[in-house]
Amino acid sequence: MWNGISHNPSLKAVDMVEVITTGTCIQKEKLTCRTKRWRNVSIPAHCVIIHHPIHGIILFDTGYAEHFYQASQTFPYSLYRYATPIQFQAQDSASAQLLARGVDPKAVRYVILSHFHADHISGIRDFPNAKFIACQFAYQELISLPAWRQVKAGFLPELLPEDFTERLLPIESLPEISLSGLDPFQTGYDLLGDQTLVAINLPGHAIGQFGLWCQTLQQSYFLCADAAWSKEAVEIQSLPHWLTYLIIDDRSALVDSFQQLGEFQKQHPACQLIASHCPAVWKQKVRGDEDA
Ligand SMILES: [Zn+2]
Repeated sequence: MWNGISHNPSLKAVDMVEVITTGTCIQKEKLTCRTKRWRNVSIPAHCVIIHHPIHGIILFDTGYAEHFYQASQTFPYSLYRYATPIQFQAQDSASAQLLARGVDPKAVRYVILSHFHADHISGIRDFPNAKFIACQFAYQELISLPAWRQVKAGFLPELLPEDFTERLLPIESLPEISLSGLDPFQTGYDLLGDQTLVAINLPGHAIGQFGLWCQTLQQSYFLCADAAWSKEAVEIQSLPHWLTYLIIDDRSALVDSFQQLGEFQKQHPACQLIASHCPAVWKQKVRGDEDA
């Protein structure tokens, strides 16, 4: 039975949604939101633990992990760590935080990757039995780039396990469904075929970026990855600084996705919009059974 005010009755529910923070990086605040100042701030890297009634623990991204240091050791990949110095401790990784909750990372069957930036995929080696649900087109493009263009695209190939392609479940191969009640978004991908997890295309920030819509019985969530860097930026429609356009995939697609998010938030104010680097949800556990 539905108890909440933000649910979508045409789609199904998961048991719980939790946001965890897997470390931070230092960045200029104005780059993330034009109305902010030119000062260094710590930007959190969140990922999301979804408790599914049938499939158990599912991750949306993994955030940082120790593998980041290894993968960014050699030039030109080392440029990534100089551009965004990170603050990370072993207990911050998604796998360590799951272990602390009594969940064996080996038991995780699905890890959804919003996009291939290193601050989203650093932990995927820690989930040896998981399938990776991600955009296959993006993977193929990135893996075939020369090293310096991979760095510019925020991609560190060593983060991927050797059997990545065998474990990749391409989003594009999954059923595309019409969405009702999630305007302005009209279609999405039903990731598990049970209408609990719906991937929504959010192009622009990175090649093949997808967000994820899901809901518990009490609360709906739109995990918008890096289509915006904070909920506040979406609400006041303040785009990232133009300097970030030097490293993003497609400027006009980014603006479109950002405006669509603004429209979504206006039409669905009760839905919790969670950006992967949003300071407002930093260190805050967001649960399906309480307000965040
Ligand atoms: Zn990103």
